[in-house]
Amino acid sequence: MAVAAHPFLEKTDEQKAITEMVRQFVDEQIIPTAEHYDHEDEFPAPIVEQMTQLGLFGVTIPEDYGGMGLDLTTYAMIVEELSRGWISISGIVNTHFIGSYLLMKFGTDEQKDRYLPRMATGELRAAFSLSEPECGSDVQAIKTRAVKQEDGAWQIDGTKMWVTNGLMSGVVFVLVRTDPKAEPPYRGMTCFIAEKEAGASENTGEYAGFTIPPKIKKLGYKGVESTELVFDGYRCPAENVLGGEEGGLGQGFVQMMDALEVGRVNVAARGVGIAQRALELGLRYSQERKTFGKQIADHQAIQFKLADMATKVDAARLLTLRAARLKDAGERSDLEAGMAKLFASEAGKECVEDAFRIHGGYGYSKEYEVERLYRDAPLLLIGEGTSEIQRMVIGKKLLQRHRI
Ligand SMILES: Cc1cc2nc3c(=O)[nH]c(=O)nc-3n(C[C@H](O)[C@H](O)[C@H](O)COP(=O)(O)OP(=O)(O)OC[C@H]3O[C@@H](n4cnc5c(N)ncnc54)[C@H](O)[C@@H]3O)c2cc1C
Repeated sequence: MAVAAHPFLEKTDEQKAITEMVRQFVDEQIIPTAEHYDHEDEFPAPIVEQMTQLGLFGVTIPEDYGGMGLDLTTYAMIVEELSRGWISISGIVNTHFIGSYLLMKFGTDEQKDRYLPRMATGELRAAFSLSEPECGSDVQAIKTRAVKQEDGAWQIDGTKMWVTNGLMSGVVFVLVRTDPKAEPPYRGMTCFIAEKEAGASENTGEYAGFTIPPKIKKLGYKGVESTELVFDGYRCPAENVLGGEEGGLGQGFVQMMDALEVGRVNVAARGVGIAQRALELGLRYSQERKTFGKQIADHQAIQFKLADMATKVDAARLLTLRAARLKDAGERSDLEAGMAKLFASEAGKECVEDAFRIHGGYGYSKEYEVERLYRDAPLLLIGEGTSEIQRMVIGKKLLQRHRI
């Protein structure tokens, strides 16, 4: 079985080829331009266009639908490389990946045929939406409602919050309440495939009632927009219930939690990528800067920082690949995905802070890349469940597996 056959640091020839290709793309196209897009908070359209040409939106989508059909492990390796360049770029792919996963795992054949080919090319890009203004961690508290109409369609009303790719996506996988009386509440939740016009803040015609307010101003994670979604009388056809009405009604919470498990591996890979870049910047700067007659890398206190950073990067990568490989092998990986996400996102933040300290005053300057990393890294502690929520997941799963 694949898990035992591949030592954790080994890459297959295919994985080597694709990660080298992505690394080159990142070094040539993303790192040199990220500063501009970050400072302007501008959507990096030319980079996204090149990513569509490289097929990066279809990495995990089966070849039958026009994708590359690669596994979660290879995807995680790609995400690490993209995040090493700029985590906003991995954010553009991330929600799309979750949408593709939901369709591949839970979609009806008609839904797969309708969306996956255009998603594989990146022509259609996906967002996913659970959070609301009054709740994020406590997903079962969502209030957005869908009510069945006489003609069979569902009408969605309510406000969603913090939707990555909320404006530029053409389809949103949105979790809503379809049975407010259900006990426990999660049984009354359904995931809808909500179509809209990509880039339009005010939708009309068949998508009327779906508005995207101006993007939220953020500390970092710029370029990729985070928005609210306002549903006010938006009509979703019954065939857009994920998995169909028969199979999908009341299944939305379970479907989304399943997707969040792979999403956690994805965020862990982003933590590895940003930590790796912080290490590279720390290694470089510490050998350029001199104090007290020698390069700062020769001061033991700086070497200790580098040592801690390198150790965390490797540990985070190993945890991430373990979770991905278990999932690919069809093994249980909920606990491992939680551990990877918790450790790698915290490692990302800690390594960035160490790199920032190594840069002294220059780390505080917008002229230096580490300043952007310092604003970007904290997001990873929040998305796909905060560190507190990961600890709750890990603790719960641990006790389930070791019940006496
Ligand atoms: C830039 C950005 C992009 C995002 N993109 C998306 C997206 O695409 N789609 C989407 O659906 N959501 C998205 N989110 C939302 C994100 O998932 C939530 O912010 C996150 O789940 C936390 O929810 P909250 O912000 O409501 O915090 P709360 O749930 O209000 O938590 C506040 C604090 O309390 C802690 N806490 C909560 N419950 C407990 C508990 N039981 N025990 C201990 N501590 C607890 C939390 O860890 C946190 O520290 C995004 C967020 C950001 C910032």
